[in-house]
Amino acid sequence: MNRLIEPFGGRLINRVVGGAERSDLLKKAARLSSVQLSHRSACDLELLATGAFSPLATFMGRADYESVLGEMRLADGTLFPVPITLPVGPESDVKVGQDVALRDAKFELLAVMRVEEVFEWNLAAEARQVYQTTDTRHPLVAEMHSWGRRCVSGELRVLNLPKHHDFDDLRRSPVEVRALLLKTGRSNVVAFQTRNPIHRAHEELTKRAVENIDGALLVHPVVGQTNPGDVDSYTRVRSYKTVVANYFDERRTVLSLLPLAMRMAGPRECVWHAIIRRNFGANYFIVGRDHASPGLNSEGQPFYAPYEAQQLLGRLGPEIGVEMIPYRELFYLPEEERYEEEQRIPANAKRISLSGSAVRDEYLAKGNKLPNWFTRPEVAEVLAAAYPPRHKQGFCIWFTGLPCAGKSTIAEVLSELLAERGRQVTLLDGDVVRTHLSKGLGYSREDRDTNIQRIGFVASEIVRHRGAVICAAISPYQATRNRVRSMVGKDNFILVYVDTPLELCEQRDAKGLYAKARRGELKEFTGIGDPYEPPHSPDLTLTTATCSPEDNSRKVVRFLTERGFLLPASEKSRR
Ligand code: ADP
Ligand code: ADP
Repeated sequence: MNRLIEPFGGRLINRVVGGAERSDLLKKAARLSSVQLSHRSACDLELLATGAFSPLATFMGRADYESVLGEMRLADGTLFPVPITLPVGPESDVKVGQDVALRDAKFELLAVMRVEEVFEWNLAAEARQVYQTTDTRHPLVAEMHSWGRRCVSGELRVLNLPKHHDFDDLRRSPVEVRALLLKTGRSNVVAFQTRNPIHRAHEELTKRAVENIDGALLVHPVVGQTNPGDVDSYTRVRSYKTVVANYFDERRTVLSLLPLAMRMAGPRECVWHAIIRRNFGANYFIVGRDHASPGLNSEGQPFYAPYEAQQLLGRLGPEIGVEMIPYRELFYLPEEERYEEEQRIPANAKRISLSGSAVRDEYLAKGNKLPNWFTRPEVAEVLAAAYPPRHKQGFCIWFTGLPCAGKSTIAEVLSELLAERGRQVTLLDGDVVRTHLSKGLGYSREDRDTNIQRIGFVASEIVRHRGAVICAAISPYQATRNRVRSMVGKDNFILVYVDTPLELCEQRDAKGLYAKARRGELKEFTGIGDPYEPPHSPDLTLTTATCSPEDNSRKVVRFLTERGFLLPASEKSRR
């Protein structure tokens, strides 16, 4: 019989309790004070509970924490490169010696922790020692600033694992993965970690690795939390399923989803990944270029050198018992119709590759099919469905400017021009929104922000569903406009500044509001008693003193066409 490698530390931790203990704790938990877990902490809890972090059995206490920061080891000397802590905010009532209920974002009960320690963690030390940087371009360093200042640790008893409703059949614990690997009849297992769709180059290197070790392959994509801006996990999993079903040997391949919250910690993360995979039964681990890398820092430099992760795991792999299978970058050789590693390509051979941004901008955004040498047609199809070309995406035109600047007037003309092009348009006009969605709100800073955020929320939903929306609201504050931009998504948000001099706005005011404000009968009127912050860098500025609403609307249409949101009129009738 084949045997898999033992878990790290000898046995798999299991913190899930059942039977009478569970029933007792369920009753007791209702009376305990609660700590609400972030999505990240819920991911950590699930992996702690099922043994993926073995020999770690709970969130780290101070001794482990400090030792992991400085030495990459738990206090007892066991290699462990990444701190797994449970930070809590000031609102959490945690006392040493007492039990607390750990709950998810929806307040569902996950676990009961016997609090053994409460301690302050150290942001600067953690950032420098684990991530090698305090630059907030690093997504984890940025996130750390929002964590509570204290960490709690203590014995963990898990009553309910976090609930997942998507791809339930592919989510497997270390015990379940080990059972499937045993069925392949092989003792050697190589794990492949990924947070991206599997393209031909990745397929190639996993297949080479399986051949080399004459073993089984664990395709182990991360679906917990990855780098912001990554392809969403639903799309990725659809692509994994089709590529594994169609192009991998089913007798020796196991696809399983890992609810890991990545830290993007480059080299240290790589070592952590290898420990986790050993717990799932793998004794080999594939590491390519830029493993777990968060991209560029604020100086435009990579946070970690491209092969730094390979160096660290190369050194520590023997201690983990997991052998690294390193790869340099693979390129496609069109003349030979095959992939090859960088260092093996003859100097004069033609080589090609596609960057992530080329995939997005040159292919998906333009509706061009990804080439077969780069990705399997099934994967190309999944990606094309998830990332429609720009002219099929939603967008938000956001007009800002003083009262009576001409926002509503231009917006109405524009919505007819877009309708003429066959786009369904929703117009969210500030005045109109204030009669229903924002009825009752006034003009204090807080009420104005609430109003704008409601409009922003509706706009973001429309854009998410690939519709066109035009918003016309004074939106006087830069910070609020920025918040709306990120709600909608910066690529599909177009800020248009309707730049009309105050005197002209006053002249055009049919409702006599400026006059009222001048007489002091209307307090907080934008432009008179209340501030208007002009945008620093609008996508488009329209002047209405010299330009008619029709001309300005046509400018917006031209802008949308240049950006690809509208097809050029002639091209449209052809397609
Ligand atoms: P806002 O929505 O910015 O408060 P409105 O569009 O409701 O402004 O009001 C602007 C007024 O100015 C309208 O009565 C409009 O007819 C008039 N107006 C005159 N010239 C222009 C122009 N070039 N562009 C936009 N509006 C203009
Ligand atoms: P915001 O919420 O950004 O202030 P809206 O476009 O939602 O802007 O609403 C502004 C409209 O409400 C103006 O066009 C104006 O007709 C009316 N209004 C009434 N009182 C005020 C006020 N104190 N300040 C600004 N606009 C006011």
